Amino acid sequence: MSKVSIGLRGWRFDEQEILGEDGTLKPLAQIPPEPRERIARLATLVDQPCDVCWLIHGEEEKRRCKQAKVVYGEPLGEVLLCDDHEREFLYWFREVGGADLAGDRLMQNAFHQWFVAEGEVPDDYGGMEHVDTDPDELVQPEPNPQLDDLETELAEMSEEERDALGIDFSDLDL
Ligand SMILES: [Zn+2]
Repeated sequence: MSKVSIGLRGWRFDEQEILGEDGTLKPLAQIPPEPRERIARLATLVDQPCDVCWLIHGEEEKRRCKQAKVVYGEPLGEVLLCDDHEREFLYWFREVGGADLAGDRLMQNAFHQWFVAEGEVPDDYGGMEHVDTDPDELVQPEPNPQLDDLETELAEMSEEERDALGIDFSDLDL
């Protein structure tokens, strides 16, 4: 089964679970619960700024933040990064013990705390290949469009329909 990313690099999905015959995203109700939660989160996350940019510039200078290109971590504890700042995360993940939190929602918080307190990455640190923060998934960047339809689908759903999907939409901006 081939794996695909949608919207942001990072999270990967089994193509057959999330895409229909025609290659478009299936309705959420037809997607199994675990990928469904992530897909729904992606609709919120694609427009968000990079966490590191945000930590540097702050909410009031949000316009200076780059848009995230990659997502690591678990739903509701995601780390979002632009291409420039993926390096900070990879350094923390590999060299500062961040990998111990793979699969844990606390990862986001721990990474933020480290970045604010220390956040120093040696100049000669390379290591740009993608890492796997989700033990069950393969890694390979391969972005994909298609979240626009999802946003429309979510916007058109009633409260009850969203509840029935069992996803936390509390910070979804519809
Ligand atoms: Zn950034």
